[in-house]
Amino acid sequence: MGAGPGGGSARAGGKLDKSWREVWPHAWELLKPRWGMLAYGFGLMLVNRVCGLVLPTSSKYLIDNVIGHKQVNLLLPILGIVLAATAVQGLTTYGLAQSLSKEAQRLINELRRRVQAHLARLPVSFYDKSNTGALVSRVMSDVEGVRNLLGTGLVQFAGSIVTALIALGLLWRISPAMTVVAVGFVAAFSWTIRHSFGVLRPIFRERRMLNAEVTGRLTESIAGVRVVKGYHAEEREAAVFRGGLDKLLQNVFRTLNAAAAMDLSSRVLVGVVGALVWYMGVTRVLSGAITLGDLVVFNLYLGLLVAPVTQIVGIGTQLSEAMAGLERTYELLHMTPETEDARRQRHIGRVRGEVAFDSVSFAYDERQEVLHGISFRAAPGTMTALVGPSGAGKSTVIGLLAAFYTPTAGVVRVDGVDLAEVRLEDYRNQLGVVLQETFLFDGSVRDNVLFSRPQASEAEVQRACAIAHVDEFAGRFPKGYDTVVGERGVKLSGGQRQRISIARAILADPAILILDEATSSLDSESEALIQEGLQYLLRGRTTFVIAHRLSTIRAADQILVLEAGRVVECGTHGELLAREGRYFELYTRQQGLERNRFLAPGEGEAEPETEKVRVAGGGGEEMPNPELY
Ligand code: ATP
Repeated sequence: MGAGPGGGSARAGGKLDKSWREVWPHAWELLKPRWGMLAYGFGLMLVNRVCGLVLPTSSKYLIDNVIGHKQVNLLLPILGIVLAATAVQGLTTYGLAQSLSKEAQRLINELRRRVQAHLARLPVSFYDKSNTGALVSRVMSDVEGVRNLLGTGLVQFAGSIVTALIALGLLWRISPAMTVVAVGFVAAFSWTIRHSFGVLRPIFRERRMLNAEVTGRLTESIAGVRVVKGYHAEEREAAVFRGGLDKLLQNVFRTLNAAAAMDLSSRVLVGVVGALVWYMGVTRVLSGAITLGDLVVFNLYLGLLVAPVTQIVGIGTQLSEAMAGLERTYELLHMTPETEDARRQRHIGRVRGEVAFDSVSFAYDERQEVLHGISFRAAPGTMTALVGPSGAGKSTVIGLLAAFYTPTAGVVRVDGVDLAEVRLEDYRNQLGVVLQETFLFDGSVRDNVLFSRPQASEAEVQRACAIAHVDEFAGRFPKGYDTVVGERGVKLSGGQRQRISIARAILADPAILILDEATSSLDSESEALIQEGLQYLLRGRTTFVIAHRLSTIRAADQILVLEAGRVVECGTHGELLAREGRYFELYTRQQGLERNRFLAPGEGEAEPETEKVRVAGGGGEEMPNPELY
């Protein structure tokens, strides 16, 4: 199970203060626009807490005046005040839930939106290093803790401090000596809290990372259920998941241990301080220094002092969690989106589609260069085929062309302009991509075609679908274009998925087209329909094909033969065959393979194999096309 993005080990306690300082400005940035709401919440909390003092205070008068001095006429007014205070307390609690809790949920919403939007603008290289499920978890779960920051958490925190201060004043009025004992307790408690925060925060941070990892792996194993079942790996996947869950459980246990230890120490402290206060109080009542009512009310106020301090621990834990989540969220938000690259500011209009690679080298990571000084030119409207063994660098060339990556040396130019300086929106609008692994979303056929140009009219969609022969199968579904294709298009055949992706590219009307041809052999009818759609799509566009089919290669204006990150040959199909070099070798080997695969021994000698291969889009001979890598 790989570490989550931006992972790393949980921070050591020593670095804690620094990271708190780093996170607070972000917390403040979120809270600042909501200060009015926070002030309102704080006001409600204050009223709430003051009302909470009414009941203990009234006890003194009930004991000393109503019971002690038999002033029965005070009973009902005192009870009336207590009832009114309780009602106000209830109302303010309701008001807090309505205002702050809802605002906190709105904040979570806003943060999720921001994180997702930011994530989408991060470069492909970031996704190469990240785990899908872990990213999902960062968008959905990491921001959750923020609820405690704005929700009642922060206000309760402030409210508790205020209550504690008021209680302290009231205690002092009754007995300064007993109050000093109580304050000693609070000081000891504050030290425990400070210590606990230091212990808890890294554990919470680690929990978020573990959560992201476990969710990530789970997402992968669900998405790849066919591979898991195909290799009978259910048990292994379950074991990996169990391992992740165990780590998570250990982490939760550590939090529970720390929380239980805190609880235990606070209870012991409460017990000790309670006994001391009762001892001092009873001796004072007996000596007549304070009344019985004073003693009772002192204990109740003491409760008001202790309860908020205990609450501060709970809230502090929640706030720690919120901060840990915020820290991870902002780690993501601080990554530079590809669109904000300072170099990429050059606007370009509609391109003609002239592409040039000038001595382009590229390394995914500094240690290993995978492309070495690649140079070639593609005139507008021409087709360039890339062939070569697996790992030769074909997809990497395409990745550079799509501006997913920037060369580590050399320049990729489009219409003479360095692609590294061009605004990505301007360029990608003119780029069409038809990939081997057609990516469909779980929407309708129409949604998937419209994906490339959502504002296209229905007539345009119909036309693209007709050219790509989507209409033929969509028409057979009861719901036509509104048929839902299932996650990644599982409800469609491979050929149908490809036809949708061709319709999508036709609708986009790109100047530059990237085609990663399907290697999977399709039935000949499907194949012919796809070829027809493709032929239309290719017309007038600068096309780059990772070629697997001879048909495409034969029609290409130039073929680049790549090997170990270098262009070893370049020319048309005829030129390269005549040269009898690497391409000739690859080609004849493929031919040999095909002959063995499709023809009976001896049969192949009857006529040259190449003649049997259908030219792109031509229909005709139905000999299955041999694949060239
Ligand atoms: P295939 O035909 O098998 O798809 P290819 O010719 O398209 O292969 P590339 O995918 O371009 O080859 O890979 C070229 C080299 O770059 C390989 O050595 C590969 O291991 C490496 N590589 C590809 N993608 C990454 C990546 N995201 N991170 C690191 N290395 C990569």
